[in-house]
Amino acid sequence: MNCVNLVITGNPGVGKHTIADLFVKQDSSYQIFDINKFAIEKGFGEKIHDEIEVDTTKLKSEIGKLNFEKSIIVGHLAPYVLDESDIDFAIILRKNPYELMKIYEERKYQSSKIKENAGSEILGVIANDSIISFGKKKSFEVDVTNKTPEMILEKIHDITNNQKGSDAVDWLRLIEEKNEIGKFFDY
Ligand code: ADP
Ligand code: MG
Repeated sequence: MNCVNLVITGNPGVGKHTIADLFVKQDSSYQIFDINKFAIEKGFGEKIHDEIEVDTTKLKSEIGKLNFEKSIIVGHLAPYVLDESDIDFAIILRKNPYELMKIYEERKYQSSKIKENAGSEILGVIANDSIISFGKKKSFEVDVTNKTPEMILEKIHDITNNQKGSDAVDWLRLIEEKNEIGKFFDY
């Protein structure tokens, strides 16, 4: 890869930072740009527990002033604060909602927060919004469930080398089959 800007996005807990850290560990010519960290530094974000509330309009215009070069841009807000022209690839990490719930419980998220984030994962909100912001050609989903960080990184390299290899993810069908929609959504 040459002078590529790669987005790693997805819901909280899918493994974005783990994968980004491993990426730059293997190739130190890349640097991490952490959207949440930048938002907090600039005063556009307020940290509440493990999540931050961000003014995405202000954040987007501030990020627009930057010039990315060989960056791994990490954050669940990526589709809302970056433009298609800023990036070469957007990798959306997807994780089985049952596995994701375990991580949220470890992180001691409130039950409303767990439902909100697991629900977002089930509906594929960030994947959908990535496609809207970055286009289908640049957006690739990777199912990280039961994969080691090394396996996930290899998959990401395959995608950037071949410009194909998006996973088909359908958690909604999975929970429908188990008859457990009510576990994730109030209706
Ligand atoms: P994010 O940055 O998307 O919130 P993290 O990188 O913080 O996610 O990972 C969330 C949790 O899952 C951490 O406890 C991390 O150690 C663990 N984790 C990340 N990737 C994997 C993986 N491939 N397999 C198992 N556990 C993982
Ligand atoms: Mg993180």
